[in-house]
Amino acid sequence: MREEYFPTIGLEIHIELKTRSKMFCSCKNDSQEKEPNVNICPVCLGHPGTLPVINREAVRKVIKTGIALNCKIAPRSFFERKNYFYPDLPKGYQISQYQKPLCENGFLIIFGKKIRIRRIHLEEDTARLIHPQGADYSLLDFNRAGIPLMELVTEPDMVSAQEAKKFAQELQLILRYLDVSDADMEKGQMRVEANISLSQKSKVLPARQAGKSQKWGTKVEIKNLNSFKAVERAIEYEIERQKEILESGGEVIQETRGWDDKKGKTISQRIKEEAHDYRYFPEPDLPPLEIDAYYLEEIKQEIPELPQEKRIRFLQEYGIAETKIETLINNKELTEYFEKSSSELIRWVEDKNLKNKQGKLLEMLANYLIGDGIGLLKGKPFEEKSYPITPENFAEFITIIEERNLTSRMAKILLEEMFKTGKDPSDILEEKRFVQVSEKSEVKKIAKKIIQDNPKPVQDFLAGKENAIQFLIGQMMKETKGMVDPNKAKEILIKLLKDSKS
Ligand code: ADP
Ligand code: ZN
Ligand code: MG
Repeated sequence: MREEYFPTIGLEIHIELKTRSKMFCSCKNDSQEKEPNVNICPVCLGHPGTLPVINREAVRKVIKTGIALNCKIAPRSFFERKNYFYPDLPKGYQISQYQKPLCENGFLIIFGKKIRIRRIHLEEDTARLIHPQGADYSLLDFNRAGIPLMELVTEPDMVSAQEAKKFAQELQLILRYLDVSDADMEKGQMRVEANISLSQKSKVLPARQAGKSQKWGTKVEIKNLNSFKAVERAIEYEIERQKEILESGGEVIQETRGWDDKKGKTISQRIKEEAHDYRYFPEPDLPPLEIDAYYLEEIKQEIPELPQEKRIRFLQEYGIAETKIETLINNKELTEYFEKSSSELIRWVEDKNLKNKQGKLLEMLANYLIGDGIGLLKGKPFEEKSYPITPENFAEFITIIEERNLTSRMAKILLEEMFKTGKDPSDILEEKRFVQVSEKSEVKKIAKKIIQDNPKPVQDFLAGKENAIQFLIGQMMKETKGMVDPNKAKEILIKLLKDSKS
């Protein structure tokens, strides 16, 4: 009988914090700087005799993250030296936290399931090693050395690639809402490592149920995951790889593997012999961190409404579909824009005496923004500063649809015009005779004129050449600058022509 295996997954995630200066010196914190070795000083180069100074803002941001992720914040924690030799580590040790991290025992709920967070600590980033192709040397760029880095470690509570990916995505969203990091995986601002093991159901589960702490299977650590897709694919691949080994009677070895995105495979990097001996000891050049209740309370007050709270509120307040709420919430700027335009809308609604329509209009606003509104960006991500329609104008646009009873086609044309010109919708309406065209009597008037001006196609149509109607519709579109619905034009033209016959 084939054994059944189930996966256990834990994540270790590094996040570059968004601060002005580095962790222990006043150099600029900019991990995207292209010119090498410009943001450096004796402190982050590890010159002898220099002393580190703790970046207050970095500490604050880790605590903020810890509170948002339901962690206990240590009233007293301290930095330690993690000693190892590597060219990208100028001091020969990394200042990190070990025995006492700033945050412990938190959790994040994804798919309704609680994923425990073991710890979040603060440390410094390493320099960047560059290996020019074909050269027999490597280059070092110290711009990244000493950038504040936050490390989050989960308990092994995830059981599928989808859960792990969702965890990482939800975390990224929270980090962005908190404004502690841009957490862009492609830019290395958020780096995920996944630990994966497979265990046999028949062994582990009965032991666990009997209250014994039967160990999970041997875990493998995967590095170099720089997109959510990579997280998902690498874990799926690794589960299959380990399953094949176990099913053919082999043993999984504990090792670190790298993900090769092109080949779609994990590749062995190094076998973990024994646990590394980093000879941790408390950093003698830095004081311990004392976090008092007032300071904590102050940070708590700064925490904005988080994605999950927003989801629930949006569902109740705007009555829009969950998938649409997700589209809004997944982009912090889009959510902010939506909230700005909805408060503008409420103002318009009062101004224009549409109070009884408020609920319907808010829903319309959400729908238009998610649909045609961001559709205009043709796949580019929404950013308020480059979006040419102001929240006020977007809101006014919605009230105009209602007041003028615009068809969705006309609404779309109006929105496109707003996007192109950045003008107020009311101004565009005046310029383009938009309002008149939206009224049936006006369309009829235009149709009559077209019939009068085009006797030949009219004759053709009446003589049975049905195609001639297309020309007349085309003329109507031209006359109205494309603002009349062609179906409506056709309907009205045919009616007028038939009436003229009888
Ligand atoms: P190590 O001492 O090897 O670094 P840790 O206990 O510190 O291992 O855990 C590191 C990460 O590996 C954590 O994210 C944890 O959730 C995860 N992990 C631990 N054991 C397993 C396992 N058996 N399978 C999968 N992930 C695991
Ligand atoms: Zn420096
Ligand atoms: Mg560890």
